[in-house]
Amino acid sequence: MQKVSCPVCGGVESIRLYPEYSGTCVTSQLDFLAHCTLDNRCCDSCGFIFNAAGVRGRTNLVYTQQNWKPKPQVLSFGNSIKSQQERALDVFEEMLPMPGSGRILDFGAGRGFFLEYFSRRHPGWEMFAIEPGGGQMEHAQRIPGALSYGVPYYKVELPHKMDCIVVMSVLEHLEDPLAALRWIVRNLADNGIVYMQHPDFEHLPGDLFCADHIGKLTPSYLEALCAHAGLKVVAGNTGRVMFNFACKAAVPSPLCTDARQALDIAHKAEHIAQASVACVREALETASRQGGTAAVFGTSPVGSMAPYMLGCPDAIHWIVDENQNVWGRQIGNATVIGPERMAECGITDVALAISPTYWEVVSQKLAAYNVRVHRPQT
Ligand SMILES: [Zn+2]
Repeated sequence: MQKVSCPVCGGVESIRLYPEYSGTCVTSQLDFLAHCTLDNRCCDSCGFIFNAAGVRGRTNLVYTQQNWKPKPQVLSFGNSIKSQQERALDVFEEMLPMPGSGRILDFGAGRGFFLEYFSRRHPGWEMFAIEPGGGQMEHAQRIPGALSYGVPYYKVELPHKMDCIVVMSVLEHLEDPLAALRWIVRNLADNGIVYMQHPDFEHLPGDLFCADHIGKLTPSYLEALCAHAGLKVVAGNTGRVMFNFACKAAVPSPLCTDARQALDIAHKAEHIAQASVACVREALETASRQGGTAAVFGTSPVGSMAPYMLGCPDAIHWIVDENQNVWGRQIGNATVIGPERMAECGITDVALAISPTYWEVVSQKLAAYNVRVHRPQT
């Protein structure tokens, strides 16, 4: 096995994780990249779980493309329908109230939905945004009041320190998350707040198949990384597949992580990822035997990549998802549809390709339709 340095601690010993794969790979934006390798590892020294390949080494090229935009977001259904950005701001302010005015930076602003919503709830703030990808054009138009930078963060010289920096689903994309956190600390005003929201790898084992989530973050690892960069987590909220932190500046501490715990999480993720691929195979074989049609449920990377792992990339033509923002979208050879359309598409077998957090609830929902539900066997 080729030795690679851990992007965080520099340690050269690591444990290789499933899958070993080179070829066409899906990204978190639901696009495919050709000639991509999945080389997942868990660092022996610090427990950082990372893809040593994927888009690593070419993030500058990949993330600055015009077509690099966050995929359509899921709407949250509670008492009322809220956008993910609105929900995130609720969670942030519940953790730690926001001052009445100041300067806010959206670090990785995507298409600008968060700041657009923020400015409605908190008028009077000076707004700044960094987004090197194609979303930058969109957010520059959506939030004309914001000073917007269309380049990677390390090329940005802000005119002021920030009272608030928001980091949503960014660090898992970066080659050196520690350097990014240190940049954030340097640009934070006295008593400033950093709010973060990131996918929790412990609940998203399908991220082992994701070409651009090159760091697999967990709350415990990221908290330690923050402390090492000079950020103290003063409030946290770990809900389902995303976790949230509110942080303040602190004296940096040595990197203090639990590598054994991280490896345990990594092995569990491997196990579930393998079981999920086997589940897609079972759905395909059952449908084939019964003269039916198989689909996968969920737009997570595992659903898109399972046919590639099984050596039959054309085998799945339908991806079923409840998020109507992605209905009609083409992901590789498959079209995304809502559950209501399964009957007309002739779907008889559905493999769950989603976070284990949702296996039970989705199985129950699909019971109302006349399909065989295949659940990963773990
Ligand atoms: Zn390490």
